[in-house]
Amino acid sequence: MSQDLLDYHDALATLLQTHRPISRTEQAPLAELNGRVLAQDVAVRFDVPTFDNSAMDGYAIHGDDRRHWQVQHRIAAGDAATGLTLQPGKAARIFTGAPVPAGTTSVVMQEHVARGADDRITLIDGTRIKPGQHIRRQAEELQTGTTLLRQGQRLNPATIGLLAIQGYTHAPVLARLRVTVFSSGNELVPPGQPLQPGQIYDSNRIMLITWLRALGFEVHDGGALPDQLAATRTALQQAAQHSDTILCSGGVSVGEEDHLKNALTEVGTLIQWRLFIKPGKPFTWGHIGKGSGHGNGNDNDNGDGACRVFMLPGNPVSSLVTFQQLALPTLRRLSGLPIEQARPLQLQASADFRRDEPEPRREFVRVVLRQHEAGWQVTPVAQQGSNMLSGAAHANALAETPPGARVAPGDRLTVYPLFELL
Ligand code: AMP
Ligand code: MG
Repeated sequence: MSQDLLDYHDALATLLQTHRPISRTEQAPLAELNGRVLAQDVAVRFDVPTFDNSAMDGYAIHGDDRRHWQVQHRIAAGDAATGLTLQPGKAARIFTGAPVPAGTTSVVMQEHVARGADDRITLIDGTRIKPGQHIRRQAEELQTGTTLLRQGQRLNPATIGLLAIQGYTHAPVLARLRVTVFSSGNELVPPGQPLQPGQIYDSNRIMLITWLRALGFEVHDGGALPDQLAATRTALQQAAQHSDTILCSGGVSVGEEDHLKNALTEVGTLIQWRLFIKPGKPFTWGHIGKGSGHGNGNDNDNGDGACRVFMLPGNPVSSLVTFQQLALPTLRRLSGLPIEQARPLQLQASADFRRDEPEPRREFVRVVLRQHEAGWQVTPVAQQGSNMLSGAAHANALAETPPGARVAPGDRLTVYPLFELL
């Protein structure tokens, strides 16, 4: 075991506890609310149902102990029943969602009556009426003045529909988190340009940008940073002025061309470097104050209001794993989710593989997660190198193995589905 490297679960707990939701809020229209987090409680403005209405296509009747009623009215959804009163022995043809007139004692389904040429309806033999049946009562679902949705609720299609039911056009939500994404490395070239000897295409930046955009973050592409301390320092400090968070990849290992950590230390505060995980050991976080001028390296507060910085290792799979397991949960917390909901979604699955060599670090194995008769099962993909994005590309989950663990078929493993929020 390593003394100075932080365990994954300690790191995640610390990240979630030390990052509080941003304070910027706005009123956003219904069509832009999906995935956003409510900044305050939203009240029930009026009862739902707003009026007693029919739950069936059939007849509103007055008199539950009869077998015949005379049909006198017709009320469809959207019609008003104002001023209409059913007298004893009378009925109104009615449709689902239409207001029941005053005097209605029950609604009978159309399948349960026979209608004669004289507009008399007769209850079919064997049918019983439960008094008050098939009437949806005013306020049985929502009562004026109570709470419709609570602060911290992440809005989804159902909650947005609920806001519409109450006539809301907008809701108060936390602002979208502004995230600037950098890659780093002299070897990086954007796809579309020819590769010179020694160069590779930049894949981390588009991977992270795509992921963040799909989750509704406001993403700024900061480009690729050269392996140069001064340029990195300037870029980080400038980005910090207009970002809630900075996400960069590469340049956080121990090589002398790895400048990101040093740059962070000079313009802000480095909180943590290195975790006892595989892949992703160099994962780093800290913050940069929004103060003006250069090198406010005295930015030593707890980071509230500062731009939060996450430095992911450059190997593409290390970037992917540390983003999904550490940076993303923290971004979700910063976006307003309660800590428990900000955590990565996890489930238990049984291993269908063997690993005899114990891996000292906690590992996130790239696996295919499948439903079997006996439950969820995971199989590792072939390419497990932290540089091999092809492995992760064919996986749909990460399986966690504890430090020093061997694995035998049938062992229960904690598994984190990938892209579960897309
Ligand atoms: P570093 O963390 O900068 O030492 O990078 C580790 C490995 O990841 C090196 O092989 C880099 O070339 C590679 N790498 C770093 N950044 C990227 C990137 N944006 N896209 C693809 N590979 C990268
Ligand atoms: Mg590098």
